[in-house]
Amino acid sequence: MHGQMMRQPLLISSLIRHADTCHGDTEIVSRLTEGGMHRYTYHDAHQRSRQCARALQRLGVTAGDRVATLAWNNYRHFEIYYGTSGMGAICHTINPRLFPEQIAFIIKHAEDRVMLFDLTFLKLAEALRPLCPGVKHWVVLTDRAHLPAGDTPWLCYEELVAAESADYEWPDFDEETAASLCYTSGTTGNPKGVLYSHRSTVLHAYAINLPDVMGLTARDTALPVVPMFHVNAWGLPFAAAMTGTKLVLPGPGLDGASLCELFQQERVTFSAGVPTIWLGTLAYLRENKIRLPSPHRTIIGGAAASPALIHALESEQGIEVRCGWGMTETSPAGTVNTFKSKHAALSTAERDAVHAKQGRIIPGIELQITDDSGAVLARDGVAYGNLEVRGHWTCREYFKGAGGSVLRPGGWFPTGDVAAIDPDGYMRIVDRTKDIIKSGGEWISSIDLENQAIGHPAVAGAAVIGLAHEQWGERPLLVVVRRPGHPVTGEQLLDYLRPKVAKWWLPDAVVFTDAIPLTATGKIYKTKLRETYEGYFKSGPETP
Ligand code: AMP
Repeated sequence: MHGQMMRQPLLISSLIRHADTCHGDTEIVSRLTEGGMHRYTYHDAHQRSRQCARALQRLGVTAGDRVATLAWNNYRHFEIYYGTSGMGAICHTINPRLFPEQIAFIIKHAEDRVMLFDLTFLKLAEALRPLCPGVKHWVVLTDRAHLPAGDTPWLCYEELVAAESADYEWPDFDEETAASLCYTSGTTGNPKGVLYSHRSTVLHAYAINLPDVMGLTARDTALPVVPMFHVNAWGLPFAAAMTGTKLVLPGPGLDGASLCELFQQERVTFSAGVPTIWLGTLAYLRENKIRLPSPHRTIIGGAAASPALIHALESEQGIEVRCGWGMTETSPAGTVNTFKSKHAALSTAERDAVHAKQGRIIPGIELQITDDSGAVLARDGVAYGNLEVRGHWTCREYFKGAGGSVLRPGGWFPTGDVAAIDPDGYMRIVDRTKDIIKSGGEWISSIDLENQAIGHPAVAGAAVIGLAHEQWGERPLLVVVRRPGHPVTGEQLLDYLRPKVAKWWLPDAVVFTDAIPLTATGKIYKTKLRETYEGYFKSGPETP
């Protein structure tokens, strides 16, 4: 027997409609690519999303078509999110930090019909245009005054929108309809597309609004540093509309000074981003002796946040840090770290150990760890193995079947991460499978070593990679960026690490560099580092 409740499809348009109805005067503040700030409200955003949908229709976009964006976090991108998905088309957000050949590949693979891009990406669009004949319209996200001059006929977003009326009714359709498309960064091989549905997006928005996840409220001011071109800014544009949270969209200004200006001026209470963003911002705050407004909670994900970073943000700035884990394939929220009441009784060191984990499993997601034979391992916090995930907002295959069938028996998605899960449901990432260092049959976590190294006051950045070694198979190399004005030797760093890590974990050598290469999604680019230092333990010197 079925229940007798109404069955309404979970559609993204319902979120912006709700925001307009209940939070119509709540602001969305954007730093403009053209310079200056822009402010409008959820009511305005709803109006313009419908005008945007009409404008896209006029360009020939119909349900199921892919509409590409190369854009920062700003109000135009926000209304394109809603305009495209609301009309049944698919918003394909492209990460501009990918190599141009990868972007061209993605555009062709997705069969994008229209490209909407911020002025920052004009050069990129010029290079892409001849390579992507399938894209029928190239629209610059700006007004007539800022439209680039020259022979290339770019369309002007503001003119397209202004020409349309907002009397557009969002259509009803199946909640399983595709809403947005995001390609994985593809550091090895071609990027693969993850196609989110309306249902997965709305359920994900409900889930991240749980109090122990991101828990946005109508009293919060949220600044998503995480880009709208990467996993839909972790779903925040949807979650914020659901709760009527004021949004502050930082545009291209992702440096410490620009972010701190917004944190202070708009009295931001919530932020979200990768650890490297906070490393830069923290340095700026220290240099300029700034204390950010309180309260402020921040979700740090995408890569491991070191205990040193968590401590600094909490003790120096009073920011509540919540670590989170997820992937493009999981929309992305999988775990977020908050304490349970029983943790109040723990010592500081014990609490720190819980805090540094990637967090508790979010309801709607299941996690398990398995060994290489596929046997499920214990959730005792000690055993670690291949992390597998399933849930309402986890992908079951890639766009157009790229990579073939990906799920393991039981419908589990293999994450490529190695992790441990404890009896309280907290997951700890040990490493990426491909980054873990296999030394003499034992495993060394590159993340754990990095977390320790970054705790040294002279270290601004640290990466650990495994390199071929004749005797042990692989041995760790520590790559360090020194903090300006803080001379430190490799031997001093190894002395610092010695009491903190198992003897056989100690890196065989330390090398210094000016900058650690990052991937398009802000993670340490370990493939590149391994290429750079290939053969180091065969030919290179060991630490002096
Ligand atoms: P992406 O799909 O580009 O967002 O990358 C997902 C991958 O980032 C995961 O599979 C992890 O390897 C890594 N990752 C995400 N969050 C964390 C975290 N909190 N700690 C460590 N690694 C993380």
